[in-house]
Amino acid sequence: MKKVLIVEDEEDILNLVRIILEISGYEVITAQDGYQGLELIKKKPDLIILDLMMPGMTGWEYLDKIRSEGYSNIPVIVLTANAQISTIETAINKKVDDCIVKPFDRDDLLLKVKAILSNQN
Ligand SMILES: [Mg+2]
Repeated sequence: MKKVLIVEDEEDILNLVRIILEISGYEVITAQDGYQGLELIKKKPDLIILDLMMPGMTGWEYLDKIRSEGYSNIPVIVLTANAQISTIETAINKKVDDCIVKPFDRDDLLLKVKAILSNQN
C-alpha cells in the first residue's frame, strides 16, 4: 500500500484530503506543521502533499529542509490557496511534482496522486 504524508495546518483540509485518499486505498499519515512533518518523513512516505502557508515553518522551508536531509527522491505535491504566478514559478524552480490550488477538486487531487504514484515501483 502506498503511503502518503499530508502536511497541512488547517484541520478541515487535512481531514478532507486524508479521507479522500484513504477511501481510494492509500495509507495516510498526517502532520499539522512542518516540525511534525520532519518527524514523519522518517516513515519514508511514497508521496508528500504539502501545504505552503503554515505557521512556524512554511511549506517551502519544509521542502528545503527535507531535501537537505536527503529526502529529495520523495515526490511532492504542493497545496496552495495562492495561484499567483510567483507561487507557480517557485514550484517550478523547486521542481515540485505538481501543484493543487485550493479549493481543490476531489478528482483532480486523485488524478495527480495516482499519476505520480503509478510511476513508482
Ligand atoms: Mg495553511
